[in-house]
Amino acid sequence: MRILVVEDEPTLAAQLVEGVNAAGYVTDRAGNGVDAHFMGDTEPYDAVVLDLGLPQMDGITVLRKWRAAGRTMPVLILTARDSWHEKVAGIDAGADDYLTKPFHMEELLARLRALIRRAGGHAGAELVCGPLTLDTRSSRARVSGQALSLTSHEYRVLAYLMHHRGEIVSRSELIQHIYAQDFDRDSNTIEVFVGRLRKKLPPDLIETVRGLGYRLACWS
Ligand code: CA
Repeated sequence: MRILVVEDEPTLAAQLVEGVNAAGYVTDRAGNGVDAHFMGDTEPYDAVVLDLGLPQMDGITVLRKWRAAGRTMPVLILTARDSWHEKVAGIDAGADDYLTKPFHMEELLARLRALIRRAGGHAGAELVCGPLTLDTRSSRARVSGQALSLTSHEYRVLAYLMHHRGEIVSRSELIQHIYAQDFDRDSNTIEVFVGRLRKKLPPDLIETVRGLGYRLACWS
């Protein structure tokens, strides 16, 4: 799951990136509205954390432009304290949720999890696929109750497949959702991660759909 963090204040931006990464996501960061608009318009983010007070283009305008262009990713806006009119304007512009500054990182992460879940049509924080469960709160996966030991990349691949279970996920889609923008992406590494995951999971849980990609087969 790949998140765009849009915040111009460097200290808060660094805290956001650190907190979101620590929760098992990858993040790209934009520090002004023009960059944010471009990135959200061209990259496939699973969710966006959007500060509203931004240089070059304000957050409301960025959000309106995304929505006008048909970009539907969940957006959590950050609003100034005591600014109820910002919340109203943000929600009217297409925000899915908001947080008022200052906020606790745990609350931001809980809201982010809920947004990503709802975007995938899932109600609960625990995703289930046959014997496999993934707790999005703790970033832990279990098979028949036994905790799996996963590297951060393996977790990201598995989490993306779990959020899209039953669907065919191509290798290029996986690459776009498990790496940050400035990361050197190599599609062969996806095969390596999937190969390692298969050794840790029940056989045939990750199907290869020839020429198309992978699919979690939750009935096995
Ligand atoms: Ca700001």
